[in-house]
Amino acid sequence: MCGIVGFTGKKQAAPILLDGLSKLEYRGYDSAGIAIRDGEKPAEVIKEKGKLRVLAEMTNQGKAVKGTCGIGHTRWATHGEPSAVNAHPHSSGDGNVIAVHNGIIENYQEQREKLIKKGYSFAPQTDTEVAVKLIDYYFKKYSCTPVEALARAMVRIRGSYALCVMFKDFPGEIYCARKDSPMIIGIADGES
Ligand code: GLU
Repeated sequence: MCGIVGFTGKKQAAPILLDGLSKLEYRGYDSAGIAIRDGEKPAEVIKEKGKLRVLAEMTNQGKAVKGTCGIGHTRWATHGEPSAVNAHPHSSGDGNVIAVHNGIIENYQEQREKLIKKGYSFAPQTDTEVAVKLIDYYFKKYSCTPVEALARAMVRIRGSYALCVMFKDFPGEIYCARKDSPMIIGIADGES
């Protein structure tokens, strides 16, 4: 089972995410990744197959990746082989939407075919990438808020999910959705 951690606040996010993910290692996983945003700059995505310590080494324990908002994931592959490309976070391709996902999108094939007709392409083999691109599709189609884009996409998705999502136009913000998979949100002074 995968693990997800997100952080936004005033502190550097990457070391917090790596620490949080290490506490979820007992759940088992095959790859790990983080996406970190430094203010309005595009998110930096670092992901790799194998243990969390590989990711920690790649990022100097998170210190090499600057930014105070981020999402992290340890993956237990259900769709697509364990690999760096299939590891989360996944992006809409243009970086507009970046997300991590716990669970299974049951109707991902049907949704993927619809999105291909709308011009999307798919490199990773995961069900997660379909959810990310579906959110991106509604966000652009309706020029709507992240919450509305998520709501529109979740109506069409069948399965179980805990999702943490970052939108390019909303720096410092993490949006979440869940069904069946558990999620806890902690709010402190100036950070979540
Ligand atoms: N179904 C997704 C995948 O295979 C998420 C798996 C998980 O919960 O780690 O990438």
